[in-house]
Order: sequence, then structure tokens, then C-alpha cells
Amino acid sequence: MIIYLATNNKHKLKEINEIKPKNIQIKGMFEILKDFEVNEDGKTFLENSIKKAIETAHVLRAPVIADDSGLEIKILNGFPGVYSARFMENYSYKDKMKYILKKLENVPFEKRDARFVCSATYYNPKNNILFSVEGEVKGKIAFSILGKKGFGYDPIFIPNGETLTFGQLGESIKNKISHRKRAFEKLFSLLINIPKLEIIS
Ligand code: IMP
Repeated sequence: MIIYLATNNKHKLKEINEIKPKNIQIKGMFEILKDFEVNEDGKTFLENSIKKAIETAHVLRAPVIADDSGLEIKILNGFPGVYSARFMENYSYKDKMKYILKKLENVPFEKRDARFVCSATYYNPKNNILFSVEGEVKGKIAFSILGKKGFGYDPIFIPNGETLTFGQLGESIKNKISHRKRAFEKLFSLLINIPKLEIIS
């Protein structure tokens, strides 16, 4: 079974390829669609992942998985949340992280709660099957930018149970506990049961 992943982010494709079951082949949409982007203007991760999955699947005429993810910081009322990618759009992630750290300047460690959230949607335009799942990883925002591994906000996020950031821990640990791992594990376990679901419906 070949499914397209609605992303132009090669890091995501790599992470998801490490989670998927052997009998499912995942290709990045960027492998066949050049310069295609869905306007992620939804108010929630769920809304955006559904929108990305449906719009991409209609263009590709093939089953698609899409995800929308981001960082929510409790004391900032969930900011940057769905705006994780879009806030300070023309700035580097280093600058975005510096901005966040400045906002949390006087906040003690015990109040620096945050979580990464991932909403993932599968949509097959041939039979109209669509479902969504969510995964999260809870943690704290570090006091400085630490580590060069991973991407995005990894260098300021310390998952619960660890003392280092995702940027220091690297992929092998991140991929065991990440929001994306948890969402996609649920998604793949539903997906391999789809033939049974189709018989029932
Ligand atoms: P999108 O899901 O591709 O729209 O990404 C949303 C934003 O959240 C991007 O700015 C990412 O950098 C950030 N983000 C999502 N997942 C992760 C992660 O695993 N590590 C670091 N940043 C992430």
C-alpha cells in the first residue's frame, strides 16, 4: 500500500518512515507535487490536518496522511500553538526560540509546562474514508537553546522524564516518545484494520 504524506518537511517524512509498519510505503508529496502548499488557516491542529489531507488527496487522487503539529506553552495560554510555524514567519527558529525564552525570562522551571501536539488525518478519496487521531508529549521549556539535533523547537523542549532537550537527545529517543510517534502509531494501527472496517460498513 502506498500512501502520500502531505508535507514538504523531509525531517517529518524520515520520522514517520521509522514508525510505519513494513507493509505500508510512505512517500512525501514533494516527490511528485512541486510547489504545492495548503493554506493552513484552521483554528486547531485537527482542522488543519483534515484540510491538508483532503486538499492534497484530491490533487494526487491517492490516499494521503497529513499532520499538523506544534508547541503549546501553558503559561502563554497555548502560544504559539497552531501558529508555531507561522509566527515571526520570516525569522529563523533560533530567533523564534529566543523570543519565547525572553517571554519566559522570569518563569521558574515548575511553571514552564509545555506540550508538543500532533493531529494526524488519513483520507482516501476513492472510498471517502477519513479519520483523525492525536498524540502529545508533555514537558518543560528549557532556560536556553540546547542541542543541534532535530528541527523546529526541539532545542528548547525537555520532555518529562528527561533532563535534556529533544535537540540534545536526538532522533532515536525522540522517536520513541514524540507527539508524532504517538499520533502515527494510533493512525497506523487503525489503518491496518481498514479492510475490516469496510466490511462492517
Ligand atoms: P507543521 O505541522 O509542519 O505545520 O509544523 C508546525 C510547527 O510546529 C513547525 O514550526 C514546527 O517547527 C513545529 N513542530 C512540530 N513538530 C515539532 C517537533 O517535533 N519538534 C520541533 N518543532 C516541531
